[in-house]
Amino acid sequence: MARLAQTADLTDIQREILSTVRSFVDKEIIPHAQELEHGDVYPQEIVDGLKELGIFGLMIPEEYGGLGESLLTYALVVEEIARGWMSVSGVINTHFIVAYMIRQHGTQEQKEHFLPRMATGEVRGAFSMSEPGLGSDVAGIRTKAVQDGDSYVIDGQKMWLTNGGSSTLVAALVRTDLGADKPHQNLTTFLVEKPAGFGTVAPGLTIPGKIDKMGYKGVDTTELVFDGYRIGADMILGGQPGRGFAQMMDGVEVGRVNVAARACGISIRAFELAVEYAQQRETFGKPIVQHQAIAFQLAEMATKVEAAHLMMVNAARLKDAGQRNDVEAGMAKLIASEYCAEVTTQSFRIHGGYGYSKEYEIERLMREAPFLLIGEGTSEIQKTIISRGLLKEYGLKR
Ligand SMILES: Cc1cc2nc3c(=O)[nH]c(=O)nc-3n(C[C@H](O)[C@H](O)[C@H](O)COP(=O)(O)OP(=O)(O)OC[C@H]3O[C@@H](n4cnc5c(N)ncnc54)[C@H](O)[C@@H]3O)c2cc1C
Repeated sequence: MARLAQTADLTDIQREILSTVRSFVDKEIIPHAQELEHGDVYPQEIVDGLKELGIFGLMIPEEYGGLGESLLTYALVVEEIARGWMSVSGVINTHFIVAYMIRQHGTQEQKEHFLPRMATGEVRGAFSMSEPGLGSDVAGIRTKAVQDGDSYVIDGQKMWLTNGGSSTLVAALVRTDLGADKPHQNLTTFLVEKPAGFGTVAPGLTIPGKIDKMGYKGVDTTELVFDGYRIGADMILGGQPGRGFAQMMDGVEVGRVNVAARACGISIRAFELAVEYAQQRETFGKPIVQHQAIAFQLAEMATKVEAAHLMMVNAARLKDAGQRNDVEAGMAKLIASEYCAEVTTQSFRIHGGYGYSKEYEIERLMREAPFLLIGEGTSEIQKTIISRGLLKEYGLKR
């Protein structure tokens, strides 16, 4: 058993799930990740394997056919998967956020309609807030839905949908003019059902091709264009317009734990690669690990892995206990993603010139880590959330 990133007080079921996923990652993901990533190939066999393991329904309640597990279990599973290949964790992340949002905020009909099929992975979720002109400034969303009888007509362009092509259900945040003073109170989440694929997949709904990214390959990231797209009012998440911002922020809060978990997984892998390489590579007559400069790098990397893991686990446990975790999830996401960028760079440097070769796994991790500084809110946005939260607690009482 590895010493790093252990989690105290897990149940037998959690331990069993994690051991099954870890062996799946070692056998089915790590050996294929490099080739699939370099070819930008969708990991269909891996996804099918995850479906069989029940991962798509991990947090969906048992009454809807899921495993009813906690956010902590989910985050630890994501950490294991990202240790193998971050793109695979990307395939399940948006699905998980949408299932969580339906579970927390959906009407009974919406839960019954979507959750059982999401638990099996038959329906696959994507979520869409960002637009070409905005990402951090969510309240400024321009894509607009106008009511027309029992339905709404949506026009506008969304950007950066992870799983935009492969999903069959998109939770899309759009503007509905309700006359509220605060812009975010005019936002509504629609549950947009569509076939998987690219091009015009439904009347008024186009998913142009995949965006070509520097890393995070295999998983599709797309735009989405609404052009007079008609959708029933019953597809508003929770049935009432104007609640979309709060619903999405709730979803993103668990998404932040997920991104922190991914960062931990990549950092663990970067450490594993470095510690192995440092004992094999010799310079000046001895393995490089015997140079104190390298040994100290490993010590620093391991300390960062441990700190990030503990903060991620803390944020997940708070949410599971029903407490607010905005500050803690922000902190976990901030530190885990910043440390991940540092740890992968340290591992890369320990690999010397070979780290720059596409034959070595660290090359891929170096391209994955930067995304975590951006996705689910940049580091600057995390600092904004953390400082606002702290000032609520520590503000001077006048
Ligand atoms: C691969 C990939 C996948 C993605 N998947 C999804 C997805 O599935 N769904 C989705 O909705 N979005 C997705 N996104 C979008 C992502 O959430 C946004 O890119 C991110 O929130 C940042 O927004 P932006 O790119 O518009 O940057 P901007 O908001 O334009 O920010 C640019 C820079 O300014 C800084 N900045 C902005 N505002 C402030 C401020 N108030 N104070 C200080 N600094 C500030 C930012 O930190 C950043 O450094 C994805 C992005 C990528 C790259």
